[in-house]
Parts: sequence; structure tokens; C-alpha cells
Amino acid sequence: MSLDLTDRVRPALVGFEPYDPAFTPCEVNLSANENTHELPPVVREAINAALVSTPLNRYPDPLANDLRDVLAARHGVERGSVMVGNGGDEILFNLFFAFGGAGRSLVTCPPDFSEYANFATMCEMPVKCVWRDADTFAIDADALVEATKDAAMAVVTSPNNPTGDLVDHALIRRLLDETNALVLVDEAYVEFAPEGSSVVSWVADNPRLMVLRTLSKAFALAGLRCGYLVADPSIIDKLSAIRQIYSVDVLAQATAIAAVNEREALRPVVDDIKAERERLSLLLGNIPGLRQWPSEANFILVRVPDASRVRQLLRDEFSILVRDFSYAPGLTDCLRITVGTRQENDRLVEALTELMKGEA
Ligand SMILES: *Cc1c(COP(=O)(O)O)cnc(C)c1O
Repeated sequence: MSLDLTDRVRPALVGFEPYDPAFTPCEVNLSANENTHELPPVVREAINAALVSTPLNRYPDPLANDLRDVLAARHGVERGSVMVGNGGDEILFNLFFAFGGAGRSLVTCPPDFSEYANFATMCEMPVKCVWRDADTFAIDADALVEATKDAAMAVVTSPNNPTGDLVDHALIRRLLDETNALVLVDEAYVEFAPEGSSVVSWVADNPRLMVLRTLSKAFALAGLRCGYLVADPSIIDKLSAIRQIYSVDVLAQATAIAAVNEREALRPVVDDIKAERERLSLLLGNIPGLRQWPSEANFILVRVPDASRVRQLLRDEFSILVRDFSYAPGLTDCLRITVGTRQENDRLVEALTELMKGEA
């Protein structure tokens, strides 16, 4: 008989279950918004050299100062404005842990990244949802500003996962000007958006603005677990005081430094994904019965009749994995398709076309 933990677990944590991305090995995996391209050889070689010369017997630099310096230089800020974490996820958790708690709410705009609500709830931070338009997924700007007025923090995702749209800069401006909340802009996918989409350069003049970035998407390093926050030094200091001190290990620090230093070599890869996104979108547009939303990220959200079944057939008959969101509130019959390589995208379109024959 297994142990009943109901009365032992912290009440805020009852009901949480292990994260299951429903991963099945497939020939084509377009399910997790990873960068599916090969790393350019110059990046791979720089990483290999860094790994080989990193001793493992010593503890990591807990603040990862060398990595912070490289990231700070990337964004033209001081080291004191940057904190690294074990993926962006850890930073999200730490933000809610530090600035949340009973009576300090988080405002989010679902459908968005479900970890916001999960982590906030774990940190006993009340979650206020300002739902996007059910049809267009547009944010109701007035409602968001109003809800944020008595909140501790608002999070907007730009481009948003899974809807793919950017947040209007004017809305971020309003959140900063018309509320007193901390404003988190999650830019996990911003490298795939047009030049000028990031608000990271605003941080210097807006101490309540925090920008989250990650090496998991454009940098093709999802397995590394490295993300970072650009924010006012007072916020970085507080987060540095409460974080797990060694969560970014020596191999991750060395790899991240090499990759960020070689970032120019990654530009053609990102450009290819952006071009493929446009091509994939055109091809999807030819499939009868499929609806898609415009995306500035490395994925496209689509709606198809009986999406769960379509996903299952893609997996079982074509060995292609996409993410099923059809169970999620507001995302009935939606699938999220990561933009892959040209060959992967062609395979997906061919399979979807076959499965959707006779629809509409
Ligand atoms: C992927 C993602 C992140 C961060 O992912 P990590 O792998 O933990 O760095 C953050 N926000 C959104 C919206 C994401 O999709």
C-alpha cells in the first residue's frame, strides 16, 4: 500500500503531477519548439573546446560572472543587470518565489505559457487571468492594465507561446506608466521576431521592467538548461540571494559562454527558420479545413477538426510529433507545430494534407 501524502504535502502543492510532455520517439519531432537544425560547426567546435578544458572537480562560480559579462555585453548592460538560471523556467519560479506569496498576485493572459500559473500557484501567489480574445487571441489591453493595478506582477509573452503573436510595445508602456507592478516580458522566442521587437533596451530607464531570455530556442541549447533575466540590479540582487546557488553548472556556463560568443554563426540558422515559417504557413494555407494564426516565433498554432486524433495519426502513421493543445482552455482542437528544417516541414505538410483529405 502506498503512502497517503494528502495531509503531509504543503497545501499549495496538492494536485500537482510530474510534467509529462507526452513525448514518443518519432523520426520528426516538431513538438517542443526546439531548434531542430544542426549547430553550425564553428559553434559546435567552440563548445567542444570549452567543455574539454573545463575542470569538474571544483564548484561552479555561483553567480556565473563570466557568463553574465558575455550576456551583458550582448545587450549593452552592466553585469549587475543580468542573472542566469537553470533555464528560463528556474528564473520564473524564483521571481514568483521572491515577489509573490499570499496577497501578491500575478496577472497573465492565457492561453499562454502554462508554467506561469503553475509556478505562481506553487509559490502561493494568486493568479489573475485576463483571457485573450477567443477567436483572434488578441490581448484586451484595458482589461490587462486594470487587472494589473492591484497586482504584484504582470507577465506578457512576446512572441506568445502558443499563439505566436508579439505584444504591442504601447501596452508594455502602459503597464509601466499606469500601474506600480513589476512587469515581466518573456522574450523566449524574440530572436525569431522582426528586428526591434525586444524591449530589453528599455530596462535601463524602467526599473520595474524585467526581460526573460533563454538559450533553449534560437541558440539550439534546450538540453543545456540556461536562461537569463535582464532587470534592475536591485531585482537581480534579490534573486541572486534566494536562488539555488549552483543550479547553473560548470559545463553549462562554459557551453553558454562559447555559444553566445559565436552567436553570429547562428544567425543564418535563425534566418532559415524564419523563412521556413513563412513557407510552412503558405503551405498550411492550402490545406482545406485548417485554420492557422500568424506567428513571429518558431512555431505555428493551427486548428483542425478532431485535433487529438490528427496528432495521434501523425505520430502513429507518419512518425511526426506535434504538440496537442486541444485539452487546454481556449485552445479547442489546436495543435502547435514547431517550424523544423525544410525536409521536416515538407514531411509534415504532406502528412497533414493526406490526413485532412475530405475535410471542409
Ligand atoms: C521555452 C520557454 C521558456 C524557457 O524555457 P527554458 O528552456 O526553461 O529556458 C520561457 N518562456 C516561454 C514562453 C517558453 O516557451
